[in-house]
Amino acid sequence: MRLLRISSRVLCCLGFLTLAATFRPSEALALEAAPAPPNFIVIFADDLGYGDLSCFGHPNIRTPHLDGMAAEGQKWTNFYVAACVCTPSRAALLTGRYPIRNGMTSDRRRVLFPDSAGGLPPSEITIARLLKDHGYHTACIGKWHLGHHSPFLPTDHGFDSYFGIPYSNDMDKVDKASHFELAGEERYQAYNVPLMRDKTIVERPADQRTITRRYTEAAVKVVQQAQSAVSSPPYFLYLAHSLPHVPLFRSEAFKDTSPAGIYGDVVEEIDWSVGQILKAVRENPAGDKSRQTFVIFTSDNGPWLLFKTHGGSAGLLRDGKGSTWEGGMREPTVAWAWPKSLARGTVTDMGSTLDLLPTFASLAGVPAPADRRLDGYDLSPCLLGRGPGPRNEMFYYHDEGLFAVREGRFKAHFLTKTSYSAQKEAVKHDPPLLFDLGIDPGEHFDIAKEHPDIVARLTQLAATHRATVEPVENQLDKRIPAEQKP
Ligand code: MG
Repeated sequence: MRLLRISSRVLCCLGFLTLAATFRPSEALALEAAPAPPNFIVIFADDLGYGDLSCFGHPNIRTPHLDGMAAEGQKWTNFYVAACVCTPSRAALLTGRYPIRNGMTSDRRRVLFPDSAGGLPPSEITIARLLKDHGYHTACIGKWHLGHHSPFLPTDHGFDSYFGIPYSNDMDKVDKASHFELAGEERYQAYNVPLMRDKTIVERPADQRTITRRYTEAAVKVVQQAQSAVSSPPYFLYLAHSLPHVPLFRSEAFKDTSPAGIYGDVVEEIDWSVGQILKAVRENPAGDKSRQTFVIFTSDNGPWLLFKTHGGSAGLLRDGKGSTWEGGMREPTVAWAWPKSLARGTVTDMGSTLDLLPTFASLAGVPAPADRRLDGYDLSPCLLGRGPGPRNEMFYYHDEGLFAVREGRFKAHFLTKTSYSAQKEAVKHDPPLLFDLGIDPGEHFDIAKEHPDIVARLTQLAATHRATVEPVENQLDKRIPAEQKP
């Protein structure tokens, strides 16, 4: 049975969908060896809003490479991250688990800071670890933000190599000016952030003016080297840009070129970066021609609206980074594959970064971890045009609190809090607010009174989910003792 299951996946990877229905076990061995396990590239922007790409409706930011990627592949319009701020969102992507399950979210410290002593526990299985254990070459480039000391660094978590700024680009501020004053000033010396190669700091402060370009060059090198020989193993590249998180920086070539100002320049450079990587994938100089490469582009959370024109836009969605309104957690997402295309079009089914681990495992024919609770679903039916996506619910965490739940088109808010506002306490809603995201994606019209049955069902769904969460040691609350600080 297992052989049949894996082989069916392989058939689908090739797009031979009709063959799958008539596939017989006796044919398994012959077909099993034919296609190579696919490559995977995840490109993860930081604080990019739902409305910040041309293909998601921005009128002035030009993103031709992402638009082309969407036109050749899939645009996902209901794709979620599992947290509305950086650290827990990244933990969820790499593990396929809500961060409440591994201590990577906190009501006291929302993300990891330079004085943090914790990180993603070594017991967690990342996508990189899973794939590396099955013969993949793995590379991490960019913002990590899951712990900047061993045993929490990328090379401790299944990546063969790491190059990047290990936490947010606005940390280690050494300038008296405020974050707001510095947001668009390009004074990289104001932030003493390190740039690391594997476990060694190679530059400090990192010159962030060229960081997107340098991440891109490193990523292209990974792709070119990995595709340089037919015998090369498959690869997983995780490129997590440090931008457009404030403070904003861009290379000289992109300075004052976008009609959307410096924020537009930064996003357009990231779009250029996507173009460079897709070009490297397409050129495939000597790689295995039967090997498919899947590329997913998305963002870690919504736009940081507090920074006004230096932050992005969630388009028609409500609120942004730091909130459990749609603008905080629904992300502009594009999927693409080469040389065989995906089932092209706009996908309105739900998806999440939580789903990447089980989806990649499925496409690679690798068993997903069975010794722990995973919160992701295998999205390959949607990617390959086999049928609807399996995800029908999403749980919206604000740090350790479950604030909202979506089932199908309906979303109930039990608690709400405007992102990064003077509002100290969350507002409790009893009964919860209820929105129909099908006809009201902007969450303007509460329909709870008209649908008590739906409210009751979503309330029960949240309770059932909560019962699956077990207490774990919190990683974000741990600090380096004062006497050990550099
Ligand atoms: Mg972020």
